[in-house]
Amino acid sequence: MSHAKIAIIGGGPGGASTALYALERGIDPEDITLFDAAHFPRKKLCGGGLTFRGSESLQELLGERPFGRAVPNLIFRASLGDIEVREPGPQYLYDRGILDHALIDRCRARGIRVVEGARLKSIEPGASAHRLVFADGTRAKAVLVVGADGARSVVRREAGLRGGPLGRLVEAVYGPGDSARFEAFDKEGALIFDFEPVLMGIPGYRWAFPYPLPDGERRFKVGIMDGRGIHSGERLREETSAYAESLGLIPLEPKIAGWPEHYFHRKSKAHTEGIFLTGEAWGIDPLLGEGIAPAYQMGAYAASRLKEALDRGVRKLPDYERRFLRSEEGKNLVFQGFLADRLYGQNGAHWLSVLFANPRLRELAARETEVYGRLRRRAPELILSYIALWWREHFGRRPRLTLPRAR
Ligand SMILES: Cc1cc2nc3c(=O)[nH]c(=O)nc-3n(C[C@H](O)[C@H](O)[C@H](O)COP(=O)(O)OP(=O)(O)OC[C@H]3O[C@@H](n4cnc5c(N)ncnc54)[C@H](O)[C@@H]3O)c2cc1C
Repeated sequence: MSHAKIAIIGGGPGGASTALYALERGIDPEDITLFDAAHFPRKKLCGGGLTFRGSESLQELLGERPFGRAVPNLIFRASLGDIEVREPGPQYLYDRGILDHALIDRCRARGIRVVEGARLKSIEPGASAHRLVFADGTRAKAVLVVGADGARSVVRREAGLRGGPLGRLVEAVYGPGDSARFEAFDKEGALIFDFEPVLMGIPGYRWAFPYPLPDGERRFKVGIMDGRGIHSGERLREETSAYAESLGLIPLEPKIAGWPEHYFHRKSKAHTEGIFLTGEAWGIDPLLGEGIAPAYQMGAYAASRLKEALDRGVRKLPDYERRFLRSEEGKNLVFQGFLADRLYGQNGAHWLSVLFANPRLRELAARETEVYGRLRRRAPELILSYIALWWREHFGRRPRLTLPRAR
């Protein structure tokens, strides 16, 4: 039976980033073993969109510029209009098989042991180390276990840790079809997040992203996120097909696949004796279901806390969740949850119109200084802008409120 100080379960963005950041924090690569059920490059259902902050982290992790396909902007859309979002740099698109494989290669190159085809089945808790039992009957012991095994985390289940809300997503690959509609869609060249589903009673959005593969063929990923997981897969598949058709796209795959998402919640539990969750096992952005960037950032946090546990010779850090909630990233995820609760709650259509009508939001979005997922610090001025608009609509005059000057 192998014995590791740290066993990381899952080699996606959450697990690979935890491993690589752990080395940056000074942990010896020989102390880390990363297990994954799959063999890399493995398939992963995903739009493959990485926003600005995720690209910054990826550059840190790879030690080189991101290699994906750059896209200049995001469009948040509904029949209420478009909000064009320009971040300080481009967003990148990836095939997840290629992206995740690059980080696994980087782990190996830096001396981390990666075990593929190792599906964790259960965990037998121990006083000084946990015993990991894999589906093929092999066993391993680890002092600290990192659960980076995604939405359906076995580590979370085995440790009995309370999770956050679950969403349901479906997605498929499409190619150019009807030329007039396709050309209109294609010339936008953006990542489109279309919130019309909120107005149709589905708490989420539909997306259409270019899907770059090395062969250079034009492909697109189209899908829909039900951020509350309340609609059937069949309904979501029908909506996805109709949306793709409206964009002049034709299916390149025989079926539209589905997968859950596990969202961050401030009350979720992510730690118990010797076990630390990270990435989607802990929870991702509840607003857009963006998971890659949060997983990289949680990986950085988890790595620091693992180093602390090793240095202090302890397996329990009672403030593991609390300290993350106090960090910039933790606060941002909580804020994203607040927005998701408005948009995907009972009065979703009302809140969507409030957001789309907010002049300050439009202004900030276009300014090339704001980063998706870090809107929290702008909340006071957005609320003031909303009050000013509301006042004008009800009393016809501008209130005597001054907005804080943009920094
Ligand atoms: C349809 C869809 C579209 C999405 N689009 C985007 C997008 O465009 N941009 C974005 O940022 N996010 C997107 N997401 C979310 C994103 O894919 C995830 O949040 C992200 O992959 C989370 O990273 P992770 O490392 O925590 O988990 P994962 O990427 O799920 O990695 C978990 C790893 O653990 C392994 N594993 C699982 N169970 C076990 C086990 N029992 N034993 C051993 N290994 C195990 C898996 O093989 C996998 O390699 C999308 C999700 C879906 C479903």
